[in-house]
Amino acid sequence: MTKHDLILLALDDSQNLHLMERALQAVDYEVAIAHDSEGLEKILDESTPALLLIAEQFSGKNGIEIAEAQLERFPTLPILLFAEKDTTGTIKSVLKAGLSGYLYPPLHTDDIVNSVNQSLARARHLGDWVRREVKRTTSSLEKRAQISESERDKLDAIIANIEDGVIVLDQEHKILFTNRIARETFGLPPDPIGRPILHVIQNPDLQAFLLRSTESSVKYHELNFDDGRIFNAQQTSIPHIGTAITLHDITYLKKLDQIKSEFVHTVSHDLRSPLTAVLGYAELVSRVGPLNEQQQEFLRRIQTIVQSITTLINDLLDLGRLEAGFDTRRESVQLESVLQYSLDMLGSLVTQKNLHLEKNIASDLPALRANPIRIRQMLDNLIGNAIKYTPSEGTIRISIRMEDRQLIFEISDTGPGIPLDEQSRIFEKFYRASNVLEGPKGTGLGLSIVKSIVENHQGRVWVESTLGQGSTFIVVLPAYER
Ligand code: ADP
Repeated sequence: MTKHDLILLALDDSQNLHLMERALQAVDYEVAIAHDSEGLEKILDESTPALLLIAEQFSGKNGIEIAEAQLERFPTLPILLFAEKDTTGTIKSVLKAGLSGYLYPPLHTDDIVNSVNQSLARARHLGDWVRREVKRTTSSLEKRAQISESERDKLDAIIANIEDGVIVLDQEHKILFTNRIARETFGLPPDPIGRPILHVIQNPDLQAFLLRSTESSVKYHELNFDDGRIFNAQQTSIPHIGTAITLHDITYLKKLDQIKSEFVHTVSHDLRSPLTAVLGYAELVSRVGPLNEQQQEFLRRIQTIVQSITTLINDLLDLGRLEAGFDTRRESVQLESVLQYSLDMLGSLVTQKNLHLEKNIASDLPALRANPIRIRQMLDNLIGNAIKYTPSEGTIRISIRMEDRQLIFEISDTGPGIPLDEQSRIFEKFYRASNVLEGPKGTGLGLSIVKSIVENHQGRVWVESTLGQGSTFIVVLPAYER
């Protein structure tokens, strides 16, 4: 028994009320008496009774209902009911309402004290159990928190020692985290945290990658270093934080590629040499003696066929190299200068077909970071197609403009146009659309080469065309510098 616990009595029956009051006070409980339901509320609000003892009928109201309402407010408050009679109905109502127990007349001092003591003891046990559970749950949460602390250390150690470079940036491209490899790769100061990455790292490929990736969804980029190392940078956005850049050293893969490339080179040479010999001998035949017209015609056919086989081999080898990612040479390239070279070479064909050529080149265009040979090849193919497929007297329009740090090259013609359902296929290897099958010859490799070149330069190419009206090929390439 705990002394001085406050017991709240809510009874109208003054005789029993006094009996209870005396019995409880005799064993050192404090007693408060509520005379009506408002008084009951007041005492419950202002003091903290350890137990409520309420009559089945209290100040004209149902005591069980009052008790239930109080249990909603104070779920741990033990409540005893002073029932009018001991009936099964009473027991059921007490159990249903979740009360601690009940007393009924005739009252004996011992019964009152025992019931109150037992109810309080049960409530205390419950309280102890709740406290123990809270403690147990808290300590298990603490333990888990401690483990996930140590897990953080583990994670830090993994990221610090991983063989890939890791840089985490906030949304303004300021450095939030770097690991050892990333710092070594870029020769960063030991603590670059908080500094804008573009101020700290001067690698042009990385700068281009970061600038581009804010505008488009470019996720991968190759970074070339002056000492010959090549890294593949991958960008992943982290919600609410910024971006993570991982850097993977692919120098050894590039070396392997180079070996493969040398092999391809050798084979291409081996294939081309006999073809050159065939061409040479075909030319010599006419010098050894007079040929009749039919012989001359046959020789011309041999020459044309050998020429187209040579072109095919060259295209295939180019495509192989491009697809294998051998095209890593990058320098500052002015697109309009390369275009001029291309037009100089193809100009005679334009004149032959009496085509109208219109140029619209924006002034002050920024450079590309590109392989000039490939850019030339791309232009030759697109312009060559426009010339090839546009009937005499037609018009070819070429424009270069700048939009959102991207260079946009467009070439439109008044040729046959391309059927809508074939427009996505013309960039596939060997695919020739139904519109030209009767017309000029071709291998169907030109546009696959164009696509590979453009994509190797982190650009995009597509066609817009209406059958019978003409086609427009659009190439978008990232600008390098202003
Ligand atoms: P090729 O010209 O050798 O057939 P390409 O890969 O350059 O191969 O082109 C693929 C196909 O795309 C062509 O066969 C043709 O059907 C279509 N094509 C390309 N350029 C044009 C164009 N300017 N006008 C109409 N059709 C074109």
